[in-house]
Amino acid sequence: DPKVCLTITVLGCSGDLAKKKTYPALFALFTHGHLPPSTIVLGYARSKMDDDSLRSRVRDFLKGTPEMIEKFLGACFYEAGQYDDASATGPVFGGLASRLRDFERERCGDDGVGHRIFYLALPPSVYPPVCANIKASCATTEPAWTRVIVEKPFGRDLESSEKLSSEIATLFHESQLYRIDHYLGKELTQNLVVMRFKNRFLAPLWNRDNIASVQIVFKEPFGTQGRGGYFDEYGIIRDIIQNHLLQLLCLVAMEKPCSLSPEDIRDEKLKVLRCMEPVSTSDVALGQYGASGDEAAANKPGYLDDPTVPAGSKAPTFAMCVMRINNERWDGVPFIVEAGKALDEHKCEIRVQLKDVPGDLFSTERAAGRQARNEFVVRLQPDPAIYMLMTVKEPGLGVELAQSELELLYTRKYDGTYIPEAYERLILDCVNGDQQHFVRRDELAAAWSVFTPLLKYIDAGGLAPEVYPYGCDGPSNARTLRERAGYVQARRK
Ligand code: NAP
Repeated sequence: DPKVCLTITVLGCSGDLAKKKTYPALFALFTHGHLPPSTIVLGYARSKMDDDSLRSRVRDFLKGTPEMIEKFLGACFYEAGQYDDASATGPVFGGLASRLRDFERERCGDDGVGHRIFYLALPPSVYPPVCANIKASCATTEPAWTRVIVEKPFGRDLESSEKLSSEIATLFHESQLYRIDHYLGKELTQNLVVMRFKNRFLAPLWNRDNIASVQIVFKEPFGTQGRGGYFDEYGIIRDIIQNHLLQLLCLVAMEKPCSLSPEDIRDEKLKVLRCMEPVSTSDVALGQYGASGDEAAANKPGYLDDPTVPAGSKAPTFAMCVMRINNERWDGVPFIVEAGKALDEHKCEIRVQLKDVPGDLFSTERAAGRQARNEFVVRLQPDPAIYMLMTVKEPGLGVELAQSELELLYTRKYDGTYIPEAYERLILDCVNGDQQHFVRRDELAAAWSVFTPLLKYIDAGGLAPEVYPYGCDGPSNARTLRERAGYVQARRK
């Protein structure tokens, strides 16, 4: 419709997230024809730049043909300005507002409908004034809509998160707010609802009668690499577990929603969180990486060697929490949620372990440590895959048991198929007004409620992290906790 146009304003476009994620995602959407052809991307920040210097800044992060890249950059502009200015005599976003109006007039005429998305690629400390200034100078009137995308961290505990939510809620309705958790945009995360609710053979098994434990694991093979200042204020629980891994847990554990509508799905996720007790301090193992111990990796520094980390910091770079859901489906099933930096591999996976077979004909094999339990694994990264571990007879004259995989490896099955990045899907969802893969305010508060008592206890020095060497598979206290929770490690012959 020539009378309708869209502008996407990236506030904080001079930053790391904007160049590495936001612009590349917008470019991919543009290249695949998912954005309306007249879309304008307007970058906004305090840095002294013009349209061309912004284009040069993002160009190297775009992957595509030179023609496509230049075509996209031709729709990218820059406006410099403040986020908040107590001494300003006029509106702080006056310049931004008139630039937006000019674009809209040019694209869809004086009587056109200009929809606006504001993407806040900024530190959360400036969210409230930025939202206030958007509302004051740039909000649209119906039928044009205004949507605001915000990035984590949404506070550091329940109180600060609710304070931020309340401030923003006075300015924008919940239906206009898109809180990004990019794990919700990953291909395999989006497959969870399909797998769980469209496969007859899985659905009857998905409960406490059959499932012994669920593990949700995130591992990174590198440390803070000079970005420890930001990390140290938050620690691994706030950085990875309270948001990304808890969202995965909700999708694994939720009941079947009434429909696929965003509100029905988010209602079910919220119910899971509301059935959880705050994490008990005795169900937690913490770690902090030290320098690597061996000669081969001798150059790997410990967390405290990062010059941006405060001396003597006790921030955990590894955490394992055993979480429990007190409802009919999951009572008694441990959800072992684990995240760590500077570990032995790069991985994010969900591992659902089934119970032992009752009346087992092969119990002598098990006693000899040759038989493992069935597992259902969803590997989000690297190499997305879905696989099941099952016990089979090894070929031969005898009856020897072995673990084997039934697997769907995405690189094999979908070789050559374009798999969109998380940010691409999420920005497109926002363009389409679909909030399913964004975190609702009540979900966010419930997620903080589960972790806030533990975080306060840790912040007050109640739990000290165990030092583990860079590159190992985690601290020994985590191994003990995992076994205590009931996870049975597959033992291969
Ligand atoms: P960043 O580079 O530190 O900041 C983005 C821009 O914000 C800067 O270029 C700067 O622009 C402005 N800015 C920085 N500090 C400011 C301050 N104290 N007051 C006002 N403006 C300030 O941040 P980022 O890494 O791009 O991340 C942006 C947001 O996304 C943050 O909320 C972050 O937590 C979140 N996030 C980032 C990543 C990532 O991969 N980087 C991943 C997940 C979430 P000007 O000075 O030019 O105005």
